[in-house]
Amino acid sequence: MTLLSIKDLKSSFITRDGMVRAVNKVSLDVFENETLGLVGESGCGKTVLALSILRLLSENTVVEGEIIYKEQDLIKLGEKEMRNIRGREIAQIFQNPLSSLNPVLTIGLQVSEPFMLHRGMKLAEAWKNAISMLRAAKIPSPTERGKEYPHQFSGGMRQRAMISMGLACSPELIIADEPTKGLDVTIQAQIIELMRELVNDRGASMLIITHDLAVASELCNRIAVMYSGEIVEISGIKDFFSSPAHPYCKSFLSSLPLNGMKPISGSSPSLIDVPEGCRFHPRCEYAYERCRTEHPEIYTLEKGRNVRCFLYA
Ligand code: SF4
Repeated sequence: MTLLSIKDLKSSFITRDGMVRAVNKVSLDVFENETLGLVGESGCGKTVLALSILRLLSENTVVEGEIIYKEQDLIKLGEKEMRNIRGREIAQIFQNPLSSLNPVLTIGLQVSEPFMLHRGMKLAEAWKNAISMLRAAKIPSPTERGKEYPHQFSGGMRQRAMISMGLACSPELIIADEPTKGLDVTIQAQIIELMRELVNDRGASMLIITHDLAVASELCNRIAVMYSGEIVEISGIKDFFSSPAHPYCKSFLSSLPLNGMKPISGSSPSLIDVPEGCRFHPRCEYAYERCRTEHPEIYTLEKGRNVRCFLYA
C-alpha cells in the first residue's frame, strides 16, 4: 500500500538571476512499512525534496505538482493543518542535532514537547513518556540524563535524543536527512541499528536521505537515486547493488572504496545551468547523439525498476 505519493514535483527558488529548479519532475512513492533511501551527491536536490514534503522551504520557493498523503495533497494544505501533520504523522530527523536542539532546554523537556503538543498531555505525563523514549533509544540512565542540556551530550547521544523526539508520537512516516553525518563509524553503526530497530518495532515507513551508499544498503528496502534535481533510478536494494542500471549509478558504485574507488569523470552540473538533453550526458561514457539534444523520460525496466536513460527506451 502506498503511504506517500509524489507526482511530478517541481521545486524552484526565485533568485536574482531567475528561477533555479532544484527538484525537477520527481515522481516517487513511499510504501507502508518500507525504508526508502534517497541517495545522491551533495547539491543534487534530495534535501530540497524532503523539505518540500514537509513544507519547510523558505518563502522564495515555488513548489508544483502533488504530494499525496492519506488522500490529501500536502501542497494544498494550510500551515495550521501542516503543523498537525508534522511531528505527529510525518516526523523529521535532521543531521546536526546540535543546531536542531534548543540549547537552553533540557533534553527531557524537548522530548516531552511532542507529547504535549500533539497528544495533549500535561508535563508530568509527557515527561514520563519522554524518559521511556530516551530509554528505548538506549540512552543510559535516562531519568538523570533527561535533566541535562544538549551540550552535555556527545554527538551520538544527541542524535539518539533527536530520534526519540522524532518517534515520540509514533509517526507513520519518518523523514531522516543524513542522520549519521558527522558521527564516527562505530557510532554510525549503532545509530543505524537503533533506527532499524525502532522503525521496525513501530511499523513505520522511513524516507532516509543520504549520500552514503553503505548507510542505504544497511537500512533500505528500495533506493531512489537523484542526479541534478531528477530521479535517475528507482530499484530494489539487491537489484541496485548487484546490477545498477543507470550509467550514473554504475559510476557511483564504482567510486566506492569497496569497488576500487574509480572516480566519476567531471563534476555535477550547477542547477543554474543544467546541460541540454540528458543532464548526465557530459559525464556519461554511453552518451550518443540523442542524449545531447533530448531529455530522457523514466522507463520501466521491470516491475519496481525505473530508469531515466535512453538505453532502456
Ligand atoms: Fe548516458 Fe544517454 Fe543514458 Fe543519459 S540517456 S545516462 S547520456 S546513455
